[in-house]
Amino acid sequence: MDFRLNQHQSAFQQEVRTFIETGLPAGWDGEAEAGGPVEREIMGRLAAKHWLALPWPKEYGGMGASPMEQLIFNEQMAYHRVPGMMNMGVAWVGPVVMLYGTDAQKRDYLGSIADGSQLWCTLYSEPGAGSDLAAMQTRAVRDGDDYVINGQKIWTSFGHYADWGWLAARTDPDVPKHKGLSTFAIKMDTPGITIRPLRNMAGTHEFNEIFFEDVRIPASQLIGEENRGWYNVAVGLDFERSSIGATSTARRTVDDIAAYLREHRGTTSQVLRHRIAEHAIAVQVLRNMAYNIATAQERTGIAPTREAQMAKLFGAEMQQKLSATCLQVFGMEGQAARPGSRVPQYQYALLRSVANTIEGGTSEIQRSVIATRGLGLPRE
Ligand SMILES: Cc1cc2nc3c(=O)[nH]c(=O)nc-3n(C[C@H](O)[C@H](O)[C@H](O)COP(=O)(O)OP(=O)(O)OC[C@H]3O[C@@H](n4cnc5c(N)ncnc54)[C@H](O)[C@@H]3O)c2cc1C
Repeated sequence: MDFRLNQHQSAFQQEVRTFIETGLPAGWDGEAEAGGPVEREIMGRLAAKHWLALPWPKEYGGMGASPMEQLIFNEQMAYHRVPGMMNMGVAWVGPVVMLYGTDAQKRDYLGSIADGSQLWCTLYSEPGAGSDLAAMQTRAVRDGDDYVINGQKIWTSFGHYADWGWLAARTDPDVPKHKGLSTFAIKMDTPGITIRPLRNMAGTHEFNEIFFEDVRIPASQLIGEENRGWYNVAVGLDFERSSIGATSTARRTVDDIAAYLREHRGTTSQVLRHRIAEHAIAVQVLRNMAYNIATAQERTGIAPTREAQMAKLFGAEMQQKLSATCLQVFGMEGQAARPGSRVPQYQYALLRSVANTIEGGTSEIQRSVIATRGLGLPRE
């Protein structure tokens, strides 16, 4: 299939490129701390153009952009390594609130996500509930006009600087596990919440464990119907997986490796040349998958779940192999974290890429779902 951009799409692509060249704050490509002032400033500038929540309807602060325009935007931002593009509020909390929230909730939550003033984290995983997410034990008990939350969440990305949490908790322990869950919006500074940092194997503080001790929230923060939360989580995960798939950073990395080798090495071994050719092919395959998903979504209005899962799985495993090649090519230069160096910190990229096949659902789970629900293969 030939995915050629039409005139309008090409013009939008150029507009995004121009914004990256001229519209970002000075020093944006230095070492931006996740959730720090540079990222917040970038979000503010994107929000001013209604680009932060690009695909959202105009009435909620977006541009009503098509899936193809969203893909064009994601590609450019990822290719140029603009930080702060993982925004859970925009990617899945807002879309679920639009589907299942009350008018008051839409008014209260959507505007502050689209203008970048409030960041959200996702409170699903627990020490005893990861792949088997419906096994979660955190309780939300109705008490008059409130719910009282007790329990523990883990691996909560960006929980330490999020303003709000998108929480799934058990409201009925006496029914089959999928049927007793509900979803809530919870302010992260509510009394009774304790946030403890967890360091990942790359040494950075990205995720946290979060404890809830008699945390009282108004019942008006229940999103959707009580005990129907599993369906909200499933819809949210569909939005999550289709947004994780866009990895144009990989295309940029292959371009960077090739440029570096052309510039700095008189010769390269055939083994290395072949490996880089394989990466270039994988990047092209992933790009075609992303365009295929966006065109299907334009046609039907729904992100194709199986294709999105395939792209997430393929992209995560590709990223791990590519990061290993980078370290081989750049050697010590790629291991040293030197501010101002034109060579990114590939040792960090390699260590961080291990999580790619775990976050958002592990590769084993994705393969099982593709095989059983996608291809209809019988289980044992
Ligand atoms: C970087 C990162 C960020 C994250 N951010 C968040 C976040 O913001 N919010 C949040 O709620 N969670 C988050 N998570 C948690 C993530 O969703 C879980 O780690 C993931 O779902 C796996 O759960 P688990 O770690 O409990 O592993 P487990 O479910 O215990 O799995 C352990 C191993 O067993 C395999 N396995 C389990 N069940 C099966 C099966 N049925 N068939 C075959 N193999 C199986 C798994 O594939 C895995 O290899 C994050 C994780 C990472 C790594």
